[in-house]
Amino acid sequence: MQNATKRVALVTGANKGIGFEVARLLGKAGCTVLLGARSAERGREAASQLQAEELDVLFIELDLLRAETAWHAAANVARDFERLDILVNNAGITAPGDGPPSAASLDDVRRILETNFLGTLAVTQAMLPLLRRSAAGRIVNVSSELGSITNHGDPGWKYASVRLIGYSASKAAMNMLTAQLAAELRDTSIRVNSANPGYTATDLNQHRGHQTVQQGAAEAVRLSLLPADGPTGGFFETGGSLAW
Ligand code: NAP
Repeated sequence: MQNATKRVALVTGANKGIGFEVARLLGKAGCTVLLGARSAERGREAASQLQAEELDVLFIELDLLRAETAWHAAANVARDFERLDILVNNAGITAPGDGPPSAASLDDVRRILETNFLGTLAVTQAMLPLLRRSAAGRIVNVSSELGSITNHGDPGWKYASVRLIGYSASKAAMNMLTAQLAAELRDTSIRVNSANPGYTATDLNQHRGHQTVQQGAAEAVRLSLLPADGPTGGFFETGGSLAW
């Protein structure tokens, strides 16, 4: 049995990019961090990098396309920690065949939705009983401003020309998960929010983003560590909130 006072945080897709930095910052904030990755090799390597920084980080296998890994991970967390305090649904993909609604590859759109939305839903369902056992559960869905339907209706918006129907729809669906789950859990101490990292240099965009991973991780970390009177059912980025 582990230390019962330390918060236990699980971050999906944490072997690199924004998720890796979220894991590092939650470790620095004093959490026990379960570093989720679909590849045991990449996950163990990333966890050992953070362990070398003297952070309390353990690899946990989690593949959003294999729901059984989520149920298996939940059983392991129940056995080792009895509860989960923070779930950061960070793992996500884009795909080369994504594009405007008139032309995007259906296979690629399906793969994106299965990963970013259905995979996130599967992990959330598997972990929810453990989050209910926390005194102050926090769920953070790492979304994107590209998932804002309001923004896509504004021709003057800075990303108005970015039409990726699969990716944007997956993030809009994730935002619906945030809104509905927050409503479902309104009478509990669990807070559920979406975070927009902002355009961040990672493998996802061939490092074209203009922010660092530290900047990209900051809002997800803030929402992970919200106080008891913090918001729920919102969509936030550093410095403010976004329209759905
Ligand atoms: P990244 O560096 O490509 O990292 C993505 C992570 O997700 C990797 O750990 C990857 O694992 C993992 N992943 C992919 N498919 C998975 C699956 N089936 N099961 C489990 N893990 C899987 O990208 P990132 O930029 O850090 O993205 C993190 C999140 O931020 C994503 O949800 C993304 O949509 C969101 N976001 C990013 C930006 C940006 O500008 N970068 C902006 C807005 C939102 P592998 O290494 O095994 O592939």
